[in-house]
Amino acid sequence: MTKTTDLVSSTQEITKEALHKLGFDDGMYELIKEPLRFLEVRIPIRMDDNTVKTFTGYRAQHNHAVGPTKGGVRFHPDVNKDEVKALSMWMTMKCGITDLPFGGGKGGIICDPRQMSNQELERLSRGYVRAISQFVGPESDIPAPDVYTNPQIMSWMMDEYSKINRSNAFAFITGKPLALGGSLGRNRATALGAVITIEEAIKRKNLDIKGSRITIQGFGNAGSFIAKILHDMGAKIVAISESYGALHNPDGLDVNRLIELKEQHGRVTHLFDDVITNEALFEVDCDILVPAALSNQITEDNASKIKASIIAEAANGPTTQEATRILTNRGVLIIPDVLASAGGVTVSYFEWVQNNQGYYWSEEEINHKLRNKMVDAFNKIYDLAEDRNMDMRLAAYVLGIKRTAEATRFRGWA
Ligand code: GLU
Repeated sequence: MTKTTDLVSSTQEITKEALHKLGFDDGMYELIKEPLRFLEVRIPIRMDDNTVKTFTGYRAQHNHAVGPTKGGVRFHPDVNKDEVKALSMWMTMKCGITDLPFGGGKGGIICDPRQMSNQELERLSRGYVRAISQFVGPESDIPAPDVYTNPQIMSWMMDEYSKINRSNAFAFITGKPLALGGSLGRNRATALGAVITIEEAIKRKNLDIKGSRITIQGFGNAGSFIAKILHDMGAKIVAISESYGALHNPDGLDVNRLIELKEQHGRVTHLFDDVITNEALFEVDCDILVPAALSNQITEDNASKIKASIIAEAANGPTTQEATRILTNRGVLIIPDVLASAGGVTVSYFEWVQNNQGYYWSEEEINHKLRNKMVDAFNKIYDLAEDRNMDMRLAAYVLGIKRTAEATRFRGWA
């Protein structure tokens, strides 16, 4: 298992290189290499059995030079300081790449939501907001869903913040249900954003999405929507995995049926006999590989076995730097995570704008705006990588950190 400290140090390494390419000095790097603010809070919660349990939560605010910080809150047993810090820096990159007036933020609570009742989750969500309420808000730091958090949790958090501030603060948090000021298109946004970058990559490689063979690691929110959208566009999903194992069919899987089965049973691989391992998934013969699960999945150990010519990173941090080098040298086009997964925060931005203006757009309008942002971001990064002979990840960081660094300098902070 790769340590999360590696996530921070590899993020810092690429950020440093990106800042140097932009002509900034080490003083700027010193300021940008860590979040400007990092909160650690203790949240005592009454459990259903009447005992009190104290949870630890974090919120990282990387840099607010261009606007409020923005990013999700994850509920997971493995949440830790380093991971939250790295994730907040990646949010800065995502917002920079898509030119949103936000810096990066991220939060997390160490807990296992699968072992908690709804009432316990509600008390924990409200307790977290009470603990950080002085440091967040629609103008300063705007949370959103992430791993194991959802529109219901966003609703409790929005309600708690509104009570504390004695007004309806819809713009405090995004990823809300439609009834509470959520945006159309938000639940599919990460997947659609990733698919749009795949379409652009395919154009550049002179391939066709119709008949392309796709492997997807992960069958959660991002993975299942990506599978469905690509399948509907005429691509063949030849392999897909969940944490329990993977399914493979060179002629293409019946994605709609798998999604139905997942809705009924919660998981699907146990319903089939011919299940392959997650390791074997990476060796499947295909044109496009979409890691849409966890970090550190593509490493120097399995990179050389990958057959795809395009990798679209829908998960945060799925490919190590060594693997990135091996694959880039072989001519594989990697659409980096901070680009491929930026669709979620982009539609979160649209949600925040709609909350502030009190006027709501159609789904068509949202998807059109999302497409413009993603196409523009992909092509800027692709061209930068070609012109300056960089890999796509470094080019994405160069574009991602540019505005934050410029704003930081104009403000006279570094
Ligand atoms: N948690 C998502 C991400 O990592 C979305 C963040 C947001 O919508 O603010 O990009």
